[in-house]
Amino acid sequence: MNVFLPSTLPEALDTLARDPAAVPMAGGTDLLVHWPVRIEAHDRTYVDLSRLEDLKPLTWKADELVLGALTTYWDVIRDERAGREFPLLVDAARQVGAIQIQTRGTWAGNIVNASPAADGVPLLMAYDAVVVLQSLRGREEIPLDRFYSGYKDMRRRADQLVVAIRIPRRPYSFQVFEKVGSRRAQAIAKVGLAITHSSAGWRVVAASVAPTIRRCATIERLLETGAKVVSPEDLFPAIGRDVAPIDDIRSSARYRTRVMARVLHHDLREFWGREA
Ligand SMILES: Cc1cc2nc3c(=O)[nH]c(=O)nc-3n(C[C@H](O)[C@H](O)[C@H](O)COP(=O)(O)OP(=O)(O)OC[C@H]3O[C@@H](n4cnc5c(N)ncnc54)[C@H](O)[C@@H]3O)c2cc1C
Repeated sequence: MNVFLPSTLPEALDTLARDPAAVPMAGGTDLLVHWPVRIEAHDRTYVDLSRLEDLKPLTWKADELVLGALTTYWDVIRDERAGREFPLLVDAARQVGAIQIQTRGTWAGNIVNASPAADGVPLLMAYDAVVVLQSLRGREEIPLDRFYSGYKDMRRRADQLVVAIRIPRRPYSFQVFEKVGSRRAQAIAKVGLAITHSSAGWRVVAASVAPTIRRCATIERLLETGAKVVSPEDLFPAIGRDVAPIDDIRSSARYRTRVMARVLHHDLREFWGREA
């Protein structure tokens, strides 16, 4: 295994610029799971980011919370203010794996791993988070809801590191995170949902029901217009337009659609049919 341990960000970026096959490594909780089977990946250079102290803290600014590239779930769980202002961050962090994973796994690693079932991504998207990428060529910012282009495809070049995740601070009148899995801990979501309402409007983000985590534009519109939704079944057409559940070893597409409709109907029952 070739591991490079840069002590500065420019050193890390230089390695990524010279070697397009080099792989950034944060907590390693996704990367190393596949290590025994991905023999072809053993010869690549792993850029271990763990010495880049500047990328670790989360920072409160007047108008935003900034997560560093190495901010872990545990860092957020321990931050009292995060629990008050962005409770979904803490809700989701507590449901990722178990404590060992929460103390190593990073939000940036969750974003770049790009699992359609990731738990960190839905609420970041529902909070309008922006991914900050850096390379030797400069800095780029991409709203998370435009970051993915297909299954495990994203707008990140091989020479770019995620250096921060910016989350705008604003008052929320509604926020909920739901993870439907086989059990409370160490489970991969069968359906995930993050829903927020603020002055920026409704955000409904679904996980495990499409090749990427995505916002549900039709359902958001139903909420904005105050359309009447009497039963979970009334949501099937909108869900059909917004997501594309599949049958896999964890559940069937039919189950996922029904669960998503029921959870949405239950969580939003006070809003369906109310004047917008
Ligand atoms: C037992 C177990 C349970 C788990 N449970 C859950 C769960 O419940 N929910 C969930 O969502 N996930 C879960 N995971 C997956 C994993 O822990 C998370 O996705 C975690 O957030 C990954 O972060 P990491 O820092 O460990 O990423 P790494 O494994 O270090 O990297 C993941 C990917 O991101 C890239 N990367 C990392 N940092 C950067 C960066 N700054 N810039 C560019 N690319 C980068 C890497 O190259 C790699 O492609 C679990 C994993 C294990 C082993």
